[in-house]
Amino acid sequence: MNYHEFTIQIPEAFKDALINRMTRNGCLGVIEQEGSLVAFFPGNMNKTSIVDDLEIIRALLEKSHQTGEFSYRHALLPEQDWNESWKKGFTPLDVGERFTVLPPWEQKHEDRINLVIDPGMAFGTGHHETTRSCLVLIEKYDRELAKERFLDLGTGTGLLAIAASKLGYKQVMAVDTDPLATEAARMNAGLNEVANVEIREGSISETSGTFDCIAANIISGVLMLLAPLIASRLGPSGIAVLSGILADQADEVLAEMREAGLTLKERFPDGKWVSLVVGKRH
Ligand code: SAH
Repeated sequence: MNYHEFTIQIPEAFKDALINRMTRNGCLGVIEQEGSLVAFFPGNMNKTSIVDDLEIIRALLEKSHQTGEFSYRHALLPEQDWNESWKKGFTPLDVGERFTVLPPWEQKHEDRINLVIDPGMAFGTGHHETTRSCLVLIEKYDRELAKERFLDLGTGTGLLAIAASKLGYKQVMAVDTDPLATEAARMNAGLNEVANVEIREGSISETSGTFDCIAANIISGVLMLLAPLIASRLGPSGIAVLSGILADQADEVLAEMREAGLTLKERFPDGKWVSLVVGKRH
């Protein structure tokens, strides 16, 4: 099988939106290389439909006078080259004090907690700021929590659930509304040989009982909608690590969390993103 490779230059602020759109339209995966996005599509897909879609993006950017940095080029890659190109985008990454996130073809790092992630189609390889922030915060609060139950809300590749299991949480739940994500999470849980991670398709309403820690790296709008449910699933001394929040949206997310009875324990900025740690009011 061949692959279409599109190397795309686009202003930073539009990158996430473009990745989401392409993923919905059959894109197998995107990597960032030397400031460009490199997107792969199956070779049997019609190249014209992908180009048409990129032209729609160009038109939208033109409307907001942002075309300056937008360009793309196409190549048709044989399978072998695709694998090489894809692999180059994923190198081992040390996160926090103890974690190393690495793809299955790399050597594990001794003395670290290795999180093996096959970067399939789901989000969460540790290369995104919000995922890294979640790992750092889960590790930081690890010592002061009971570590009975952990919930990874919007698990993507399963990375945070796998991390929680390796930190010693006894029971780990992972949910995602996207069946491709739950499939990837199952595969990665297998690669890491974690037996206590239960993965379900759906959202927080698929869970019951309370958790010592909930990690939710989803966009602000979803976090705000789920605030009451997040609060209801937290044990009396439990915490929620909320991420995927753009800096200028942090206050409105926090307002919803307060409304739901939660208080702020920590605000953790990273670039244009902010993570919030909230807990039950005592
Ligand atoms: N936890 C991973 C992935 C975050 S991406 C990480 O930190 O890197 C966010 C994920 O949330 C996506 O896989 C998306 O499918 C999922 N998602 C979006 N809305 C959701 C909802 N309402 N309930 C559960 N999962 C949701």
